[in-house]
Amino acid sequence: MNLEVTSRYRQSHSLKSERQEYREKLFNPEDNEAVSPKKYGHKIKKNIREFKKQASKLEFYPLGSRENYPGNYDNYLQMTLSHIAQMKCLRFDHALEDKKIFKGVPDYTNGQNNGKKILLLDLDETLIHADFNGEFYNDKSIKYDAIIKFKENEKDFEENCGEYIEKRRMKLEKLEEEEKEYRVGIFLRRGAKQFLAEVSKYFEVGIFTASVKEYADAVIDYLDPDKNMIKFRLYRNNCINVNDKIYVKDLRIIKGVDLKDIILIDNSMYSFTAQLTNGILINSFYNDKNDIELYNVLGYLLNFLYKVDDVRLINEQFFNFQRITNDLGAN
Ligand SMILES: [Mg+2]
Repeated sequence: MNLEVTSRYRQSHSLKSERQEYREKLFNPEDNEAVSPKKYGHKIKKNIREFKKQASKLEFYPLGSRENYPGNYDNYLQMTLSHIAQMKCLRFDHALEDKKIFKGVPDYTNGQNNGKKILLLDLDETLIHADFNGEFYNDKSIKYDAIIKFKENEKDFEENCGEYIEKRRMKLEKLEEEEKEYRVGIFLRRGAKQFLAEVSKYFEVGIFTASVKEYADAVIDYLDPDKNMIKFRLYRNNCINVNDKIYVKDLRIIKGVDLKDIILIDNSMYSFTAQLTNGILINSFYNDKNDIELYNVLGYLLNFLYKVDDVRLINEQFFNFQRITNDLGAN
């Protein structure tokens, strides 16, 4: 494995200042209080309604993953963080009162992670790209790494999939309508399987995807057929949905682990909105065979995060997501 750290990481690192100073500036203890699912009640429903109402007032249109391409890092960051600064008005703890968000979430209260940090990995455009739009379907010179099959879950269809599957249904070739089985070609990011093998030695690894369960499970089964690298799976229903445009991955849903010990790697900046300093942003992957981002991130994880007390302080020193957002919010 190539453990070289990219110049981007080195550059950001040169901006570091005292750790204690960061701690005082960045973390409002109230923001990081553990949240647990509560029973539905009048007040809770009211809070969730209020969250949706506030979200509907947001006036920006989120950038798509296509904008997160190599060479556009600074621009992508500036734009998405300016949107995230606008989302500061949202009370994500209110959105977490929807108990569906906690479905299937792991509980580490009894230390089942053996002191390992939790490493959450996004799926689409982070580890793989699925050709749902048929972009590469007719190009004979390009070969998929695998064909993934999955079945539609009728019960959850309306609730979870909605437009998502509906859009894709029209695009998918070779759809077997009667069996409700979907097939889609996927590209594996360079080094993805080695990356998983390596990080699973040092971290408690989970997938956290904004995709629906039926599809995501098929991809994860392909990535980890022996089910010994990926310890848990979180899906679209575990995300906070903001106006059906943005899926925020609020890390407070993981029980029994302090936020200082949780890392999320994702190609969408918006995923980090609730806890910016836990995130590592990776360029979006489509089918670039020369891409080496996973090797770079592996170097960063093992050299800088694996043994530290608080991953958020190191991430902030490297990436400055919180500082930039604060500056944008102040303007
Ligand atoms: Mg993604």
